[in-house]
Amino acid sequence: MHQPPLSHLEGTDPEIAALVESEARRQFEKLRMIPSENYVSMAVLEASGSVLTNKYSEGYAGRRYYEGQQFIDPIELVAIQRAKDLFGVDHANVQPYSGSPANLAVYLAFASPGDTVMGMALPMGGHLTHGWAVSVTGKWFRSVQYGVRADTGRIDLDEVRDLALKERPKIIFCGGTAIPRVIDFAGFAQIASEAGALLVADIAHIAGLIAGGAHPSPAGHANVITTTTHKTLRGPRGAMIMTDAEHASAIDKAVFPGLQGGPHDHTTAAIAVTLKEAATPEFGEYAHRVVANSRALAAALTERGYSLISGGSDNHLILIDLTPQEIAGKPAARALDRAGIEVNYNTVPFDTRRPFDPSGIRIGTPAITTRGLTPGHMPQVAAWMDEAISAAIKDDEATIGRIAGAVRDLLTGFPMPGYAPTP
Ligand SMILES: *Cc1c(COP(=O)(O)O)cnc(C)c1O
Repeated sequence: MHQPPLSHLEGTDPEIAALVESEARRQFEKLRMIPSENYVSMAVLEASGSVLTNKYSEGYAGRRYYEGQQFIDPIELVAIQRAKDLFGVDHANVQPYSGSPANLAVYLAFASPGDTVMGMALPMGGHLTHGWAVSVTGKWFRSVQYGVRADTGRIDLDEVRDLALKERPKIIFCGGTAIPRVIDFAGFAQIASEAGALLVADIAHIAGLIAGGAHPSPAGHANVITTTTHKTLRGPRGAMIMTDAEHASAIDKAVFPGLQGGPHDHTTAAIAVTLKEAATPEFGEYAHRVVANSRALAAALTERGYSLISGGSDNHLILIDLTPQEIAGKPAARALDRAGIEVNYNTVPFDTRRPFDPSGIRIGTPAITTRGLTPGHMPQVAAWMDEAISAAIKDDEATIGRIAGAVRDLLTGFPMPGYAPTP
């Protein structure tokens, strides 16, 4: 049963209530291994589902365009202070609706349409909003894109420097969605300074690892840091932009009134709670366990003959090229899902297949670590993945169904906030 119980929703809208109940159960029964997903705490769920959703608060604390901000202002100020303390930055804006609008605010603040901007190409591990062609950031700016080396699967900072000095972008983005290795923020900062560019570190995927001390921080290196709050940071769907004092007011103006109207106050409260949780020693242990699990899983998959981009993982994420297994990413991801292991199909660097039917899958350990799985479980997880992929190749649905049952049995012993199994 969903926690808190959905009794009012069941009364008003049984159709939606039943679907939410089913989703809660699905999340309980599956190994959720999409690296951008997690399980939030009951405290975060309660803040997200509170009456704060009723309020309008355009503007910033003490400078609002609506009355009745007696309790909203302190909530937003607490969230801001906790972000500043946790990440060691001068300024934080907690209002962006999500990661993509947060990045758009950076463009609005520091570039004009037609300016040159630079980011990692999406199929190399970057994000749409780092200047990829189908995104507004690739259409309204002159975007130049870097990638990884074919031989190492890693970013080559000498290549990035050559491109930056040749193209002279106004903004350089580092960070991405499919990078299994540590990002060298100091190295990027050196390049941005040589090229006269603003450095933006988009830490959407790794914010929780940084907060927990399991990945180096971009604070003091990047001029601007953007992040979602719902990935490894384990908070509500939302985002933050953090800056030094010099870039603070440009960012605030870009978020409101440049790009958005009223902030989502229920999300702001949930972000505040998230940041309090992320400042605890327990969260630091969680972040380190996410990495330990990812390393253990990478080792177990390598042992089973899987080809990992860059040869392994330093963080929460593993990118697998399934070409040697002679199955594409999409049928593998579908089979794994039927086996109770939820991943996503993904392009790999220099992919020869099409983006909607690529060669790889992307997996990660943030959510299963929240459930309580440890490095000792990872050989079993790798074995199930391998069996399910082999079964998919042979159209062996019985094996896939058997794995789903074994996964369900294992996860019965690992509680999930937001769901209470009915006896
Ligand atoms: C997830 C992500 C985003 C976008 O976040 P949304 O909330 O989905 O808009 C931006 N940048 C990176 C690197 C991401 O991983």
